[in-house]
Amino acid sequence: MEFATFADRAAAIEAEPADLEIIAHVTALLEEAADGEDRSADAAAEPQTLEIVARFVQGRVFPAWESTTLDIGPNTCYEAIARAAGTNVDADDVEERLAEVGEIGDVAASYEFGGQQGLGAFTGGGDENGAGGDLTVREVDETLTDLAAAEGSGSQDRKEDLLFGLFNRCSSDEARYLARLVLSEMRIGVGEGTVRDAISEAFDVPTESVERALQVSNDYSEVARVAHEEGQDGLDSMDLEIGRPVQAMLAQAGTVTNALEEWDEAAVEWKYDGARVQLHHEPAPDAAETSDATNGAAGETRVFSRNMEDVTDALPEVVEFAAKHLEEPTILDGEVVAIDDEGSTLPFQEVLKRFRRKHDVAKAREDVAVRPVFFDCLHAGGEDLLEEPLTTRHERLEAVLRDDPEQEPEDVDGLSLLWRTKDSDVIESIDAEALEAGHEGIMLKNPDSTYSPGRRGKNWRKRKPDVETLDCVVTGAEWGEGRRATFLGTFELSVRNGDDLETVGKVATGITDEKLAELTELLEPHIAAEDGQEVDLEPEVVFEVGYEEIQRSPTYSSGYALRFPRFVGVRSDKGPADAETLDRLERLRK
Ligand code: ATP
Repeated sequence: MEFATFADRAAAIEAEPADLEIIAHVTALLEEAADGEDRSADAAAEPQTLEIVARFVQGRVFPAWESTTLDIGPNTCYEAIARAAGTNVDADDVEERLAEVGEIGDVAASYEFGGQQGLGAFTGGGDENGAGGDLTVREVDETLTDLAAAEGSGSQDRKEDLLFGLFNRCSSDEARYLARLVLSEMRIGVGEGTVRDAISEAFDVPTESVERALQVSNDYSEVARVAHEEGQDGLDSMDLEIGRPVQAMLAQAGTVTNALEEWDEAAVEWKYDGARVQLHHEPAPDAAETSDATNGAAGETRVFSRNMEDVTDALPEVVEFAAKHLEEPTILDGEVVAIDDEGSTLPFQEVLKRFRRKHDVAKAREDVAVRPVFFDCLHAGGEDLLEEPLTTRHERLEAVLRDDPEQEPEDVDGLSLLWRTKDSDVIESIDAEALEAGHEGIMLKNPDSTYSPGRRGKNWRKRKPDVETLDCVVTGAEWGEGRRATFLGTFELSVRNGDDLETVGKVATGITDEKLAELTELLEPHIAAEDGQEVDLEPEVVFEVGYEEIQRSPTYSSGYALRFPRFVGVRSDKGPADAETLDRLERLRK
C-alpha cells in the first residue's frame, strides 16, 4: 500500500465527525491493506502492511507492549522537515510556523517537498511538485524501525537523515501524517475501540473475540493479522505470553457501604503505597544449575510498570525474588514498596527514586531498597487465569509464592493478604492496620470478578478519599498500649448542640507516632478526669476529621456515628465555639 493511500484515508477520517463512518473508513483501510499484501516467501517474515496500518492509524509506530521508541526530539523532526523543504528553510522557520498554526501536521503540509539533494526525489507519481506517490507504508515502517535502532554517537544525525529521506519523498498530505506519526500526535479520532470494531467488521469475526485477543496480546497488529488469516478460531486460541505485558486492571473510587451492598461480601486488601509492577517469569530449565536469572536459557524474568515499560534493570530485587520463590512460568500483578533497613515502609516518593533508574542501580539500591508484594496472578503453570474469579486467582497466587505447603499466608513472602468479609467493622480495622503499617488504606474487590486488563471498572475500588471533613471538639481520649503507652490516642469527637457537646465517634487512624506525641503534648494539660486508660478532656482542642459517611447510631450521644473517621489535622485557629453543630451533621447526612 502506498503511504499516500494511507494519508488519504487518514485525511478522510479526520474530516469525519460520525463514529460509525470513522469505523467504516478504518474497516476499508484494513481491507485494502490485507488485499494488497505480499505473500511471497521472502516477504512473509517482514511485518505486513495490514499489521503496520493497524498501528499507524492509531498513531503508533510500535505495538503498545513494546518498549521500543523512536527516541527523537521535536527538533530533529523540525530539522528534517526544514532540510526536505529546501535551502531557504531552517528549523527556526518550522518552529515559527508551528507557533502560528499550533499543529505540526499542518506545518509539515505547508511546505513543498521533493528534490532535495537527489535523495529519493522525483521517483515518479506524486503531486504537482513531483513529490509523493511512490513511498509505501512498509518503507515508512522499515525506515522508522531503522531510526529507532540507531544508537550511540552520531545517532541523532542518522535519525535526522532517515527522517529527511522520508519527508523528501512526501506529498503535503503524506508529510502531514508522517510528522504526526513521528511525534506521536496523530489525533485523527481513531481510538482503540474504533480499531477493535473495524477489525471485527473487516474480517467478519465477533467483536468479543477481537476484544479478548487484544486483552491477552495488547497488540493490534497481531490481532488484525490473526483475524485476517485464521478468523475467530485463531483469535480465540491466542494466549498470554510471558514477556509481553498485559494492561493493568484499575480501580474506581468507592465506599465500603456501596461495595457491601452490591457484592454482599467484599474481598479486602491493603492498598500498598508503592508503584505497580507486573512480573513475568519463565524459570530456567533446571533452576538449580544456573545463577543468572535474567536471560536466555537461564530463564527469563521481566518486570513492567503500570504503563508497560520494561523496568527490569531498575529493580534487581524483584528479579531476585522471582529466582528465589517462583518455580513455574508465572505472570503476577503487584506493587513494589520502598523499605528502610528495618523493613518498614517508606513513602511512595522513595519508590519513584528507584523506579526508572537506568544508571548506578546498585548505589541507588543501597540508599533505598524495594520489595515486591503481589495481589494477583494472571498466569501460572501454563494456564491463563484472567477469566477465573478473583478468589481463585488469589489462591493460585498463594500457591505459587508459598515455599512449603505448610506455610501460613501471613508467612508467605511477597503475598498481599486478602480477607473476605461482610462486616464493615472488620473492614474498618483492616483499614486501620494498613494505615498503621504506613500504607494507603484498603482496596475493596469483588470476590467473583474476572481480571479485566486496562479497565477502570467497579470490581476494584479504592476507598474514596474523604468526601467532607468536619471540625470536631476532642472531648476524650485513651492512653495507648505497649510502645504507645505514653501517648494519648483513640480520640473522642463531639459536635455542638446548643450549649452542649454530643459525641459522634472516635478517631484513631491516620496518625503517626510522631504526631501522637505532639497531640499528647497538646491535650495533656486539658485532662479533666482519668479512669484507667480512659481520659476526659476539657473541650479546648478542635480536630479536622475526614469520614466516609454519617450513620444513625445508638453508640454515641448525638445519635449519629462517623464511619471511617480519619484524623486530618488540628484546627489551631478554631475553638470549641467554632466546631460543627448537630444540625449541620443532620443536614450533611441527607
Ligand atoms: P489511578 O490508578 O486511579 O490512575 P493511581 O495510580 O494513583 O491512580 P490509585 O487509583 O490511587 O492509583 O489506586 C490504584 C493503584 O493502587 C493500583 O494501580 C496499584 O498500583 C495500587 N495498589 C496498591 N495495593 C493494591 C492492591 N492490593 N490491589 C490493587 N492495587 C493496589
